[in-house]
Amino acid sequence: MGGISEGFSEAVGQTPLIRLRALSELTGCDILGKAEFMNPGGSVKDRAALGILQEAEASGELRPGGTVVEGTAGNTGIGLAHLCNARGYRCLIVIPETQSAEKIGLLRSLGAEVRTVPAVPYSDPANYVRLSGRIAAEIPGAVWANQFDNLANRRAHFGSTGPEIWEQCEGTLDAWVAATGTGGTYAGVALFLKERRKDVRCVLADPHGSALYSWATGGDLSAEGRSITEGIGNSRVTANLVDAPIDDAVRIDDREALRTIYELLWREGLFMGGSVGINVAAAVETARRLGPGHRIVTVLCDSGDRYRSSLYDRDWLQGRGLRQPEPDAPVLF
Ligand code: PMP
Repeated sequence: MGGISEGFSEAVGQTPLIRLRALSELTGCDILGKAEFMNPGGSVKDRAALGILQEAEASGELRPGGTVVEGTAGNTGIGLAHLCNARGYRCLIVIPETQSAEKIGLLRSLGAEVRTVPAVPYSDPANYVRLSGRIAAEIPGAVWANQFDNLANRRAHFGSTGPEIWEQCEGTLDAWVAATGTGGTYAGVALFLKERRKDVRCVLADPHGSALYSWATGGDLSAEGRSITEGIGNSRVTANLVDAPIDDAVRIDDREALRTIYELLWREGLFMGGSVGINVAAAVETARRLGPGHRIVTVLCDSGDRYRSSLYDRDWLQGRGLRQPEPDAPVLF
């Protein structure tokens, strides 16, 4: 690391691996978070966005002045919007209207053309991902990023996030824990780590309302409940996830995820988004299952700044039957 980065694209990656001190002390394990919120576009999805664009450029599918179209919960769109500006493309984003106002507003500020659509299941042709594919097919010279099923996504993590974690840990780690949206981060890193060391335990974290926990533990895709977290969970197994190694799975509820991000803020000074709550709580559960003395790595996907009007707003939480955690309340862990 160090030296001069050639523009936005070269500034993606090489993020710190942060020891979460309080949780490490509590569990007797080394719990480490890959600080993906420090990417130039503010999330783990900068890596996937860059990998997808680079492969589309290399194949000749994406040409100067072309358009990049994507259906996204926000962060991939933000990464793509930055990269399209930096590399000379138009960017069109389809996003469910349920995603945070901060992310939708930011996409517009970055100059992307944003179409908000009702949040409907993947089985519905009006689903944001399926709609984005149809829009891309109708625009001459447009490329559909297709992050869920385009393996360029996980290749980006296999080629960067995985090797960085391995090097930062100097090959000493016991478990990799992450929630999945597209599955790109989880699968890319899991495949890389398993190639280096077969016994690195790969643990899929999942929120309620997603079918992946039941799929990973019992083989059937069934979901129960719902979650206020954004960008993670799925009702189907994407191409990026389909053959990823999974040794264990952990399901985390919103109360625990919420408590976790507030604990990270108060104890570690880290202001994090909701998926980080699922990841870190699942890392703590993995530490419990493994016992003291293990090193567990997870992802700090994006910053709390993207959720100030939701996860960090007392009234918003109350409207969803959740109480804002208070600093002097008993510690959950
Ligand atoms: N957390 C957040 C906040 C995200 O936006 C995403 C991407 N949808 C993820 C986690 C999951 O990443 P991936 O798509 O690589 O599974």
